[in-house]
Amino acid sequence: MNMDFKRKLPIPMETKEMYPLTGDMAETVERRTAELKAIFAGTDPRMVMIIGPCSADSVDSVMDYISRLIPVQERVKDKVLIVPRIYTNKPRTTGDGYKGYVHQPDPTAEPDLFKGVIATREMHMRAVKETGFACADEMLYPENYKYLDDLLGYVAVGARSVEDQQHRLTASAIDCPVGMKNPTSGDLSVMMNAILAAQHQHDFIYRGWEGHSFGNPYAHAILRGYVNRQGVTHPNYHYETLLYLAELYGKWDLVNPGVVIDCNHANSGKNPFEQPRILKEVLHSCRCNPALRKLVKGFMVESYIEDGSQPIGCGVYGKSITDPCLGWEKSERLIYDMADAL
Ligand code: PEP
Ligand code: MN
Repeated sequence: MNMDFKRKLPIPMETKEMYPLTGDMAETVERRTAELKAIFAGTDPRMVMIIGPCSADSVDSVMDYISRLIPVQERVKDKVLIVPRIYTNKPRTTGDGYKGYVHQPDPTAEPDLFKGVIATREMHMRAVKETGFACADEMLYPENYKYLDDLLGYVAVGARSVEDQQHRLTASAIDCPVGMKNPTSGDLSVMMNAILAAQHQHDFIYRGWEGHSFGNPYAHAILRGYVNRQGVTHPNYHYETLLYLAELYGKWDLVNPGVVIDCNHANSGKNPFEQPRILKEVLHSCRCNPALRKLVKGFMVESYIEDGSQPIGCGVYGKSITDPCLGWEKSERLIYDMADAL
């Protein structure tokens, strides 16, 4: 291979021995995940709010951000279950650019995957321990999921990965809700096939093992908008698309039909300030049709301390270095407005 094998990384079991969960932390993850599962199973009528920066680029500002969600969660706990986004792996359309905390725990320094793997586990551990949330991350590299499988409450498979077999089969082995995004082309059958694959049992090779997965009944859809053949972004959160998705679920042999609306990305045309309007429009659609209220399980919002985004190296604390985000005050307001509308 045309590759420098620089050094051997610790395997997930070794990192877990070095950085083990305490009993309290394991209990937190189990309790929050059970609550999430109940929402996706339809036995808990609350909605989920998966919220946080596009990329978790710095442990200080990420911990600061998540800590601000604690009193908000307390106030809306009867209506909304908050799942902070700690996204440590970033898919890049061309492969270039910041690939996330796992690659570069210091975004201004050279890639250091050895440090990144450990620092990522430490950041998710701190979130569970210090805030009592179980967080969400994207599974960009299925073989890396095992570094975090005891910490995550929610996993997303991204728009660029959802057609990939290893992602689908690994999702079928995950013991928490997994959201399958629509692909960037917007073809909803690709997303439905991914949900079907994740809900079924499979035999496959995982990290050098011959394994059997038992299927994930909490695998569901995420609508994130799409880009047409002319490169123009189109939303897919409107009433008609939600009805169409409900109809698709009726035709497919799937359990726990559900969808999370990603309010940013191609749904907002990456204008983060559209996110509150999109969320409120979807809640309005839910009020118009009880079947949609049952189908829509919650929202994904890209939010950070500061509004917008900045190039790497500008160093504004709590400002996104990937997709533009909604700042803290507007985000806090949005969660309260969401709870009031439910
Ligand atoms: C994200 O959630 O930041 C992301 C990269 O999403 P998508 O896969 O929808 O582009
Ligand atoms: Mn993003």
